[in-house]
Amino acid sequence: MARIVQKFGGTSVGDIARIQNVARRVKAEVDRGNQVAVVVSAMSGVTNQLVDYCNKIAPDVAPDYDQREYDAVVATGECVTSGLLAIALQQLGLQARSWAGWQIPIATDGAHGKARIASIDGAEIVRSMESGHVAVVAGFQGLGPDNRISTLGRGGSDTTAVALAAAVKADRCDIYTDVDGVYTTDPRIVSAARKLDKITYEEMLEMASLGAKVLQTRSVEMAMKHRVRVQVLSSFTDQPGTLVCDEEEIVEQELVSGVAYSRDEAKVTLVGVQDQPGVAAGIFGPLADANINVDMIVQNASSDGTTDLTFTTSRSELERAVKVVKENMKVPHRSISTDKAVAKVSVIGVGMRSHAGVAQTMFKALADKGINIHIISTSEIKVSVLISEEYTELAIRALHTAYGLDAAA
Ligand code: ADP
Ligand code: ASP
Ligand code: MG
Repeated sequence: MARIVQKFGGTSVGDIARIQNVARRVKAEVDRGNQVAVVVSAMSGVTNQLVDYCNKIAPDVAPDYDQREYDAVVATGECVTSGLLAIALQQLGLQARSWAGWQIPIATDGAHGKARIASIDGAEIVRSMESGHVAVVAGFQGLGPDNRISTLGRGGSDTTAVALAAAVKADRCDIYTDVDGVYTTDPRIVSAARKLDKITYEEMLEMASLGAKVLQTRSVEMAMKHRVRVQVLSSFTDQPGTLVCDEEEIVEQELVSGVAYSRDEAKVTLVGVQDQPGVAAGIFGPLADANINVDMIVQNASSDGTTDLTFTTSRSELERAVKVVKENMKVPHRSISTDKAVAKVSVIGVGMRSHAGVAQTMFKALADKGINIHIISTSEIKVSVLISEEYTELAIRALHTAYGLDAAA
């Protein structure tokens, strides 16, 4: 007997027939003698619709309206599917009940709209599982310290599932989605993408944080921290999925395991900034205080005693970032320019640690396609480049081929 947390994403619970299909999958796991808890997302499209309602009711301030009310609205999608799945399970003869985040409770911090899970009291869910009941938990939601409903950021049901798996000490957390595993790159962009049997926590963390939204980044952080065995698989087929696990479990490690991309990027350049100590601190301090994430940074010194300073942030935060910089810019500078039509493409692999020349393969593959690189950033296990958005797909395909990742035709 194993204890398993299953998570079903939006497409998997997209309509009544699909919820009934999910119920059959849950029953199959129970019939194998396992203890099961289930986490569900909202039906696909529902969260977008709910976000849209919020934006429409306060168009002049959107998205800066009361985030506690945003959470109250957007958390409802998961309440619907958890109740429906509990009924579908009862229809199959199982004992099941739905749990909203606040009922468990899943305690979060107070960052409404993008809250972090602080703790989960797994006792009730464990009791429920031990007595043969199926707990159906609404993903994406929790309870803030202000006693108000909170949500975990888009894609947050993955994090609910992994956190719950850690809290109830599950043997496995199965994430069912609309693809049958983690691929070398987004299979919707590159048809030659290959499914990986296994991927390390570290690589999956990089892949997710660099744009592969198959798992929410925080869910991978959580899995890595608590050593939760996560499996990504499809709710529509019976193919084996991808196991996210420790490096030691992977016998043959590829040099590069995957290519990720993000279009949620924007570039800000401060031109002709006086070159003197404290400039960077004066720019990035206020950005940090305003809770704006800065990603890549480059600075070019020029011969006339000024420098050009370029950084990237997410597209949705660009306007705010520029405002903060303008308000706090204390040193002389010539101008500020911005570019929203950029994308970040990254190659990821733990094999990079022990091999030279990985970045060069990337630069050459991009050069061969005539793609200009705006910014480069590297870490131990990834190389990222910022390029013009129009070349995103071309770059992903070229890199996928250059690192020998294409599936045999
Ligand atoms: P769910 O609603 O089940 O949470 P998501 O849409 O959040 O599903 O995540 C699944 C999607 O992630 C896939 O449809 C796929 O387009 C995308 N994706 C991006 N990169 C990858 C990758 N490397 N491997 C698999 N899927 C990926
Ligand atoms: N329903 C939420 C979203 O669309 C959470 C999730 O699906 O993971 O972002
Ligand atoms: Mg998702």
